[in-house]
Formats: sequence, C-alpha cells, structure tokens
Amino acid sequence: MKNNDIESLLQEFDRTSFQADLINWFEKEKRDLPWRQDQDPYKVWVSEIMLQQTKVDTVIPYFNNFIEKFPTLADLAEADEQDVLKAWEGLGYYSRARNLQTAVREVVSSYDSKVPDVPEEVSGLKGVGPYTTGAILSIAYGVPEPAVDGNVMRVLSRILQIEKDIAKQSTRKIFEACVRQIISKANPSSFNQGLMELGALICTPKSPSCLLCPVQEHCKAFENGIQEQLPVKSKAKKQKHVQYFSYIIKDKYDNYLVEQRPDSGLLANLWQFPMVPSAEVDVEHATQWISQVYGIEISVGTKLKSIKHVFSHLTWDIQVFEATCESGSLTGARAQFIPLNQLTDYPFPVSHQKIREQIILK
Ligand code: SF4
Repeated sequence: MKNNDIESLLQEFDRTSFQADLINWFEKEKRDLPWRQDQDPYKVWVSEIMLQQTKVDTVIPYFNNFIEKFPTLADLAEADEQDVLKAWEGLGYYSRARNLQTAVREVVSSYDSKVPDVPEEVSGLKGVGPYTTGAILSIAYGVPEPAVDGNVMRVLSRILQIEKDIAKQSTRKIFEACVRQIISKANPSSFNQGLMELGALICTPKSPSCLLCPVQEHCKAFENGIQEQLPVKSKAKKQKHVQYFSYIIKDKYDNYLVEQRPDSGLLANLWQFPMVPSAEVDVEHATQWISQVYGIEISVGTKLKSIKHVFSHLTWDIQVFEATCESGSLTGARAQFIPLNQLTDYPFPVSHQKIREQIILK
C-alpha cells in the first residue's frame, strides 16, 4: 500500500472527530491499572514488556511485585539476573526479562540513567521493538509515535476497513503509516492507549460490542456489516510437539537434582528437573542416558502426573517420574542437588513449577 493509497483511504475520514470520540471515551472509561498511576518511563517500559503476549489480569501482580523489588531503573540494572528471572517466574517468554535488564543497563551507562525520548535511541535498546518504542514515547513523553500491535491492527482494520493479512510482518507498516496520519498530536498518549483499550474492552476479536462503541460512526466495517470478518489473518503454522521424560531424582540426603538451562535459547538460565528427549531415547534407556549425562545411577519409582506446556511455537509433553539416586557423583557444572525447601528459591519455567508442585504438595 503506497502513501497515495493511504491518503485516499483516509480522504473521507474525519480525524478530528475520531480523535475526540476516542480520547474522551478513553479518559472516562479507562481501567485503573497500576502502571497508569504516573508517566514514569521506566514503569511504562516494564508494563509494556510484561503485557506482550500476556493478559492484563496476569500482569498486574507481577508488575506490582517487580516494581516493589526493582523500584528504579538503577535497581534493575544492578540486580542479579537470577533475581530478575525469579520475579518473572511463571510469566513466560523469559528473554523479555533478560533483554529488559540488558537494555536498562545500557540506559544507565549510555543515557545517564534517563530513558531516551527519541525514536532512534529507544528503538535501539535490546528487546524494544516498534510497538514498545511507540508506547514508551507516546505514554511517557507525549511524542506522537504509533504503537501498533495485534490489537491495534484488529481495531484499525475494522475502522478503516483494511483487508490486508495482519499475520504478515509487512502489514504492520501500513497500520503505522495510517496511525501517523490520524494520531492526535495534542494527546498521543490517550490516543494510543484509547486504541489499545478499545481493542481490549469493546472491539474484541470475537463479537465486538459495536452498539457500545464510542467510534462506531467512524467505523467502515460496521457500516458495511463486515466487522466479524476482519481482520484478515492467515492461520499460524501447526504447533510442533516435543516429548520428554522428566525425573524428580532424590538422593539419600533428601536433596533433589535440578539443573540450569543453557544461557541462550528457549528458557535460557532458568532451572528444571532433568529432561530426557523421548525422540532420542526410549523409556527403557532413559536411566542410561541420565547416567551418561549426570554421572549417577538412578532407580525409577512412581509415574506422576504428566505435564503439557504450550509455547507460541511448540508444545512440550512431559511424562514425569519419581526416581532415587543410588550411586555415582554428579557431573555437569549446571546441575546440582538442592534441599526441598530451596526449590522455590530458584526460577523455574511454568512446566517445571508444575513438576515441582507435585513434590512440594505431597
Ligand atoms: S464499531 Fe464495532 S467493529 Fe467498529 S471499532 Fe467499534 S467495536 Fe470495532
């Protein structure tokens, strides 16, 4: 879509009246959320990172706890990564936490501890994409930058009747160009947040509440009765399933074997119980695999509840077993035996928190 196309798309669109309707509604109806108490760029930043792929209700307690533990940018910059991961435990997408800390450290070292207020600098920080750049700049600094995520694309695809596939990366640029044309220069913060709030409360993915919508009279999809058919979104690829056997291995001192995952890749640096990939090793040979990898001999006991965990791109199916360490001495720098009462001190991903619960709640 070229600039001319965007201009002709917006030719009949009453920008001033749309801005007024959206902003007035937002300022009257907005939810009272902890990150809306002030415009502190650090808090806006933390909240926006937490809200990526995660629901508001889930984020609220994490945000409050995180800000209590790391109230300022400097506190987060100086924190131990394991403490940051612990505060993020259960929220998922842990690279968000690691990137946030790396970026905050950069702000301390390169920007005199002040979150920058120009797009080129904000977008250069690790883990800060175009959406987060727009959200930080508009909400914290009142800069009229677009903040376009999936919600905003859904809302605008309906209002402007844009029938482009929002699953394609290139489509976001079209929506950003549209927002640049229609954003309120006087109040970009409420404009951007208004679009997000509208997507969360009214213009929902299924059955949008058009009769309650504050911008209904501006909405082309509603006018044409096709709001339920938008946005156009091609189907995501089928999820890959990966199966594991996981062992809760106890030694004779009642300590449990845990290991830290590699420091890059999926769930980097989080902790887990040993996992044997069942595509490579069948259950009869799993104890041998454990012996080779960890240097210990185990005997397998009861089978516990299986765990299924769905990531954005794959699913883990984990069969869980109790086991006892019979002999040998542990090898591998990232593995260690720890007592039951210390298991909760370590950051575990959700799947292994569920495994952990099976012994803690016993
Ligand atoms: S009128 Fe309906 S489809 Fe249009 S923006 Fe409002 S809720 Fe969404």
